[in-house]
Amino acid sequence: MELSPAEVRAEFDRRRWKNVAGYQTRNVPHTAHEYLQRCTLEREDVDGLLIHPVLGRLKKGDYRPEVILEAYQELVKHYYPADRVLLAALSITMRYGGPKAALFLAIVRKNYGCGLYIVGRDQAGVGKYYDPFDCQRIFDRYPIDVVPLKFAETYFCRECGWMATGRTCAHSAEFRLNTSQTRIREALSKGEALPKEIIRPEVARVLARGDVLLAE
Ligand SMILES: [Zn+2]
Repeated sequence: MELSPAEVRAEFDRRRWKNVAGYQTRNVPHTAHEYLQRCTLEREDVDGLLIHPVLGRLKKGDYRPEVILEAYQELVKHYYPADRVLLAALSITMRYGGPKAALFLAIVRKNYGCGLYIVGRDQAGVGKYYDPFDCQRIFDRYPIDVVPLKFAETYFCRECGWMATGRTCAHSAEFRLNTSQTRIREALSKGEALPKEIIRPEVARVLARGDVLLAE
């Protein structure tokens, strides 16, 4: 499942992908992540998406690497066109260094052949330590020859009945379903079912098996 930079680039060539967007993750996919991936795939200047979960050393309370990979396999298999998405693992130690770590993770993806890189909210952050959008601003200060795709905070809006951000939806916070990992982990620990607006049923089934978080 892990491919070297040369192997990933060769696969891009085989698929005739010239402009590829990289997606960093250390989480199982929920619908807010999927929204960023889909918005990226809608772009005319994007040939394909590399979903590149970090499966090296993570921290206590993160998902087990095999759970992240299996959850993504389910999402890709059931929901994405096979010729537009490549899923590969990346075994590096995750550094929770906020903006600088986000920049580092983008440079790594550049080495794998990605010309674009998705930066959501609070990438590589820890707790409330970093401003959640500093990880986007740092790309303005250090041009690394990768186009950062910066997204606003994404949520499911009950009034819109869709995924949205403050850029696309008129409604206030009371209509937003909380799609945060904290909320998802809370529900998991209580054995609650998660609505499909937050997580795909195929992904929820992977999580429902239990023992999905790293104990240390
Ligand atoms: Zn709305």
